[in-house]
Amino acid sequence: MRGLPESRQGRDAEFSPMTDRDELARDKGQRGGSCNRTACQMPNSAWWFNTSTQAYYCERCARKINLAAGTKLCVPGWTAREAREETNGT
Ligand SMILES: [Zn+2]
Repeated sequence: MRGLPESRQGRDAEFSPMTDRDELARDKGQRGGSCNRTACQMPNSAWWFNTSTQAYYCERCARKINLAAGTKLCVPGWTAREAREETNGT
């Protein structure tokens, strides 16, 4: 699957040079689907919501993103709305 918009991938590439995959999972970045990180795309693992890219990641990638960002960009198993409320509340 080529030719998809890649605007959401730029941030991921910053902390991992392993972006050599061409094929994107159909459920990539979706809740409970494949991790949104192109180099990962672990199936049925995307339960961490990234409030920056508005996509879901596996726990491993989510924690990496949080470390790289130095803030709680990714939150586990929550909807976008819940995540927003949490980040506003803390
Ligand atoms: Zn991942």
